[in-house]
Amino acid sequence: MDLYDYNTVNRILSKHGFTFSKALGQNFLIDPNVCPEMAYELNADKKTGVIEVGPGIGVLTKELCKVAGKVVAIELDKRLFPVLDETLGEFENLQIVEGDVLKLNLKELIEDKFSDMESVKVCANLPYYITSPVIMSLLESKLPIDEIVVMVQKEAAERFCAEIGSRESGAVTVAVNYFATAEMLFEVKKDCFMPSPKVDSAVMRLRLREKPPVEVENEKRFFAVIKAAFSQRRKTALNCLSNGLSLPKEKVSSALNSIGLSEKSRAENFTMEQFAELSKLL
Ligand code: SAM
Repeated sequence: MDLYDYNTVNRILSKHGFTFSKALGQNFLIDPNVCPEMAYELNADKKTGVIEVGPGIGVLTKELCKVAGKVVAIELDKRLFPVLDETLGEFENLQIVEGDVLKLNLKELIEDKFSDMESVKVCANLPYYITSPVIMSLLESKLPIDEIVVMVQKEAAERFCAEIGSRESGAVTVAVNYFATAEMLFEVKKDCFMPSPKVDSAVMRLRLREKPPVEVENEKRFFAVIKAAFSQRRKTALNCLSNGLSLPKEKVSSALNSIGLSEKSRAENFTMEQFAELSKLL
């Protein structure tokens, strides 16, 4: 069955009475090159367990099943289950799990499904309405995964993969870099999808670090400082931190000065070390 053929896909979907849900970010890949390329970039083998978020009709899932030992695909939309039965029924190393990826206990899922695998990775064409929450929750929950290869909106990928200290960087750049190294892999044009989204996409790789690059006493505080510092793009870090953390300006100003930063400095110019220092001082 050719899942990249527009007519075949239309026929299967209408047979099951399926209509696309915009709210669930349902833009299915229809280009034959993207999924094999993503599966290749994941570096999976028969000892790798892969979690896929949102299989849709199973285009990427199929490629993952070919290269990995086991695939667990988490899908929120129950209407896709009979479709997936038809498109992926042949794969014995696949399990479809019903649920919201943001609500499932992924630690338990990994222990339960992948105890016989040597490594666990995540691969997905993410529903765009939950890109950052999914990525941050995968990273923050300290799951035993070593690599994430995901497609997100191009602009979001550029932010995730930006250099810390560059104009493109944001709170999410620093937060992701604390847990992982981020690498842009390739772009995907909007006409590779059915239906076409409004913007282009990109595939990126996050390699989880064994140890964060800076020592942080209180991670919650560290992330609160980063979030506050980037909260208002055109304002100085002094104003952002004082407003965002409800702290007197004098306190913030003396913390900035003590690590060699001026009152006029902006968050996009800070290093990861400076954020770590600030989280200790504030
Ligand atoms: N992997 C398919 C592809 O590349 O063609 C579909 C990708 S589509 C962009 C996103 C998929 O995620 C849809 O199948 C959608 O139903 C599913 N989805 C949306 N929200 C979800 C959630 N919270 N948890 C799990 N799956 C979700």
